[in-house]
Amino acid sequence: MFRKVLIANRGELAVRVIRACHELGIEAVAIYSEPDRTSLHVQMADEAYLVGPAPSVESYLKQDRVISVANKTGAEAIHPGYGFLAENGEFARKVEEAGLKFVGPRAESIKMMGDKTQARALAKRLKVPTIPGTVRPISDHEEALKTAQDIGYPILLKAAAGGGGKGIRLVRDDSEFGSAFRASQNEARSAFGDDRIYIEKYIQKPRHIEFQILADRQGNTVHLLERECSIQRRHQKLIEESPAVPVTPKIRKTMGEAAVRLAKAAKYENAGTIEFLMDGNGNFYFLEMNTRLQVEHPVTEAITGIDLVKEQLRIAAGESLQVKQGDIQPKGHAIECRICAEDAGAGFMPSTGKIEYLFEPNGNGVRCDSGIYAGVQVYPYYDPLLAKLIVWAATRDEAIDRMRRALNEYQVYGIETCIPFHIRVMDNERFRAGEITTHFIEQEKIMTSDGEDEALNFACAVSSTLHHTAENKRSALTNGVANRSSRDNWKMIGRMEVLNKQ
Ligand code: ADP
Ligand code: ADP
Ligand code: MG
Repeated sequence: MFRKVLIANRGELAVRVIRACHELGIEAVAIYSEPDRTSLHVQMADEAYLVGPAPSVESYLKQDRVISVANKTGAEAIHPGYGFLAENGEFARKVEEAGLKFVGPRAESIKMMGDKTQARALAKRLKVPTIPGTVRPISDHEEALKTAQDIGYPILLKAAAGGGGKGIRLVRDDSEFGSAFRASQNEARSAFGDDRIYIEKYIQKPRHIEFQILADRQGNTVHLLERECSIQRRHQKLIEESPAVPVTPKIRKTMGEAAVRLAKAAKYENAGTIEFLMDGNGNFYFLEMNTRLQVEHPVTEAITGIDLVKEQLRIAAGESLQVKQGDIQPKGHAIECRICAEDAGAGFMPSTGKIEYLFEPNGNGVRCDSGIYAGVQVYPYYDPLLAKLIVWAATRDEAIDRMRRALNEYQVYGIETCIPFHIRVMDNERFRAGEITTHFIEQEKIMTSDGEDEALNFACAVSSTLHHTAENKRSALTNGVANRSSRDNWKMIGRMEVLNKQ
């Protein structure tokens, strides 16, 4: 096993990897940008090095600088996390050329699966169902329009190099095509430096189901069951769970085998994810492969008992997988809520500022993977993901109740977060019934009553707090248990102010 590993990332993910390193007796080296000097991952690492100013292109994405820090400190491997350099094949190659181990797949696998059209072509060859559409990128407007007409509206324009929901545009008819094509190309060019676009038939109201893969260098490949990630905004996930409600043991077997077949064909090594869409009739279609650790990996860890980051490090160190496919069975149910610095009531607008007060939930079956602490500043330069709240319980119903309890305990003051949004989802009947699709947020109008009229909201907040306080007193007296269905923000701020004055 390695003695020292550099983590080329920040935030909650860097903290997650540092913890795995420490459990394996590995020293963890952090890198940071100027504004991240005081961040949690820097404090938790054994060594930390400045790599540049705030913009990630001048710091976290400076490939040569990151590699030279690793060499200087005597690190033997680089863990890229997700985002930043994680899916950059050129970086993986440079790391290996510098005599270091890249904790991830080989550069060729990253390049092949990172091009979504190549990945689609591979899936087709392997007879894994794919979404109807093009298998090669189209740059000519006329040709693209003709193809869209042949496939039949509605269609999605998607970036071949895409990721993080960027470059995706819905087109319902010919009149929308021109501006959507330009917008998609522009977004792809600025996000990925690559404006190649491909076209897919738009699947109506699908569910997002993905399979976690682990593969070692010796050629052993297993899947660690599925995750459902249908609760999305802007094509990005907000809530994930495992097992997935619509996945029966039979479907799991078919989809899992398809995922393993794809990973094997790509000579895949380390952790990766095969994403699928599923329609209302249980048909599934290959969507893409993510050649890295996934944000939502903890739900898989919770139901399988396998530590994915430790497995990544073991595989990178050349060890072979100990687990066999037949041994992997789901135990209980896990849910993750992404805690983002976003005001869900204002269209998930990013929120920045200083975290004045923080209380992270805890207790039976609760895991909080966090990258923040009270007093830290949240800047606009990076991804808004602050932390992840994961719960595990014996059943899905119990997991939802536990998540609601944990979200009600969660207190973040100073910036807006999407915690109120998550509470509403946990309270939603359709969510509880497992009737979800990627359109859940719009369809259920989860946050639309918020942020419309600030004065009215303020008045409502005051009156509901007064009512709530009175109710709590009454129910505490009558039942002995206070009804904690909403969080006592006003009371908490009042108490903090009193304490500050003392
Ligand atoms: P998941 O791990 O479930 O796929 P996301 O799709 O939200 O989660 O992406 C994970 C993180 O990586 C996010 O912070 C996102 O902004 C970032 N990301 C994903 N793909 C890319 C990419 N190709 N280029 C840059 N950032 C990306
Ligand atoms: P990214 O690389 O940005 O993660 P994906 O191809 O994985 O892009 O798609 C992200 C999300 O966009 C999916 O989870 C789904 O909600 C939606 N989506 C993508 N392709 C389609 C499609 N053909 N039909 C319907 N929804 C789609
Ligand atoms: Mg995706």
